[in-house]
Amino acid sequence: MEYVTLNNGVQMPILGYGVYQISDQAECEQCVLDAISVGYRSIDTAQAYRNEEAVGRAIVKSGVPREELFITTKVWISNAGYDKAKASIAESLRKLQLDYLDLVLIHQPFGDYYGTYRALEELYKAGTLKAIGISNFYPDRYIDLVQFSEVVPAVNQVETHVFNQQVQAHEYMKKYNTQIESWGPFAEGKNNLFTNETLLEVGKKYLKSTAQVALRYLIQRGVVVIPKTVNKHRMEENLDVFDFELTVDEMAELAALDTGESAFFSHSDPQVVETLTGYGKQGL
Ligand code: NAP
Repeated sequence: MEYVTLNNGVQMPILGYGVYQISDQAECEQCVLDAISVGYRSIDTAQAYRNEEAVGRAIVKSGVPREELFITTKVWISNAGYDKAKASIAESLRKLQLDYLDLVLIHQPFGDYYGTYRALEELYKAGTLKAIGISNFYPDRYIDLVQFSEVVPAVNQVETHVFNQQVQAHEYMKKYNTQIESWGPFAEGKNNLFTNETLLEVGKKYLKSTAQVALRYLIQRGVVVIPKTVNKHRMEENLDVFDFELTVDEMAELAALDTGESAFFSHSDPQVVETLTGYGKQGL
C-alpha cells in the first residue's frame, strides 16, 4: 500500500474502500471483512450511509490492530452545528466501537457547517480525531472555510474521476495544503466508464482492466481513491494497481477525457441545494 502524508503529518492510505449504498447491515459487515481480508486498511463510511454499526462489527471481527486501520466517517447535514455535530460524532464512535477516528469530514457544505467545523477542531485538538476535513466543498466554500478556520482541512473529498478531474479545485487544494480525495472514482459506471475505449486501450498494454487504469490515473495524480464494490474479486482487482505506471503520454490521453462537469449533480445547483438542505431540515 502507498500512503499520502496529510498536512498534520498523519499517514493515509492512497487507496481505501468505500461503503456508500451498502445499506444491508449483514452485507456491509461481510464486505468490510472481505475488504480487510484482501488488504484494504482504509474504510470510508458516513453517518448518512446508516452502516457505521456494520463497519464497526467488521473492524472488531477482522482482528486487525486498530493502529493499522484508517477509519473515516462524515457528519451529515442534519447534525450540523457545534452541539449536534459533537453529539453525532460521539454516536458514530459508539456505533463504530472505536475510541478515536482517523478522519472525520463535514459531508456537505450546508447548514451551520462553521459550527460543525469548530466541533471537529475541538475534538481534533483533544486527540479524538486524528485528522479533520470536508467533502463536496467547491473552491468558493473551501477557500472561505480555510480563510476563517484555525485548522486547515486535511482532506476535501469531492467527486473525482476521469470524466470530472477537478483540475482547478485540485490546484486550490494544493495551494492551501489540503489533500484531494475522490468519491466515485468510477463515476459509479456512468458514461460507460467500464467500457471506455481509451481506458481499454491503455489497459491492454499492462493487462489491466478499465477500472484499474481509472484508479491508477487518479493515484498518479496524487488523488486518494476509495472505490466501492460488493464483489470480493473486484476488491482484489481494484487494489491491484501498484505494479504498473502510466507514461506521460498515457496520462495526457486520459487527461483529455475530462469534461470538467459532474456526472451526477452540482452542489451549486439551486435545486440540489434545496433537496440537500431539505434533508438536513427534516433530519433525514
Ligand atoms: P464508485 O466507486 O465510482 O463505483 C461503484 C460502482 O462500480 C458499483 O456499481 C460497483 O459495482 C462498480 N465496480 C466497482 N469495481 C468495479 C470493477 N472493478 N469492475 C466493474 N465494476 C466495478 O462509486 P461510489 O460508491 O459512489 O464511490 C466510492 C466511495 O466514495 C463510496 O462508497 C463512498 O465511500 C464515497 N462517496 C462519497 C460521497 C460524498 O458525498 N462524500 C458521495 C459518493 C460516494 P459492484 O458493487 O456491484 O461491484
